[in-house]
Amino acid sequence: MLRIDGYTRLCGLIGNPVEHTVSPVIHNTLAQMEGRNLVYVPFHVEEGQIKKAVEGAYALNILGMNVTVPYKREVINCLDEIDGIAGKIGAVNTLVRTSQGYKGYNTDATGLYRAMCSEGIKIEGEEILVLGAGGAARAAAFLCVLKGALKVYILNRTKERAQMVAEEVNGQCKTECVEGMGIDGYKNLPEDKKYLAIQATSVGLFPHTQEAVISDKGFYRRVHTGFDLIYRPSCTKFMKLVREAGGRSYHGLKMLLYQGIEAYELWNGISVSQKDALLVYAKMKEAMGIEE
Ligand code: NAP
Repeated sequence: MLRIDGYTRLCGLIGNPVEHTVSPVIHNTLAQMEGRNLVYVPFHVEEGQIKKAVEGAYALNILGMNVTVPYKREVINCLDEIDGIAGKIGAVNTLVRTSQGYKGYNTDATGLYRAMCSEGIKIEGEEILVLGAGGAARAAAFLCVLKGALKVYILNRTKERAQMVAEEVNGQCKTECVEGMGIDGYKNLPEDKKYLAIQATSVGLFPHTQEAVISDKGFYRRVHTGFDLIYRPSCTKFMKLVREAGGRSYHGLKMLLYQGIEAYELWNGISVSQKDALLVYAKMKEAMGIEE
């Protein structure tokens, strides 16, 4: 039974909207499994209120927060300190309480890395196509460079944004291996090469399940592995197109799992075992009605 008393620690999620989040399943399951007196609650924060929300959270002795759309950048102005990688990425999704205020981390990038490792997907030495140039794509592009990708092509509907992100990642990481292009920029790449493709646009997200940001089969013939950051639905149009062309493909629920696990580890100063992580994953799939 849920125990709430004077010692209960509170963690939460701030964003807008937060109503459909699966994050409470991650953190409340972990707390229950560990017998930890901690509760995780989503907080809907209205536009313009993020600073007040973070100050209020600190004043209320809240242990940690996750941050979601649209506040991952704006929240940086409300921090006392920022972790090095989060600072480079320019986005924060986890706040950890310190004696002065909150320190910001980006566990989206590290969560994506753990999810990819758990599926046996290699980044080092790979040529990678990142679709999209929003917050998630930036984190993915940084991760690819930091983990030794040979080349990273950012493909985006708004070409200028792809070029801007590429420039920023190159500058921050002191490299030139990132290139920004329009969404059909792949047509200028050699046809005989196979790539890892990370789908980081919001196209295909429920309820638009029949859409993919690229529908040309010629694109998918160049992809050996497709990783879609979307997890609702659990098999996106992008994933289907990769499989139809002979590649393997994955959805983003494990990324969500590991970004949550990393946040929980930071808040509580512990390390979650792989066995427990997989138990939490089973609970998430149950909550979302995913059977595979
Ligand atoms: P974002 O900052 O809003 O970026 C959206 C991206 O999608 C932009 O590159 C945008 O292109 C592109 N896009 C949107 N509509 C499009 C359309 N009709 N045609 C072509 N491109 C389009 O969003 P985000 O925060 O990066 O999130 C992106 C996706 O990742 C979301 O689906 C989110 O759910 C998912 N995500 C998953 C996890 C996880 O844990 N699994 C974590 C974070 C995010 P323009 O630049 O041209 O507008």
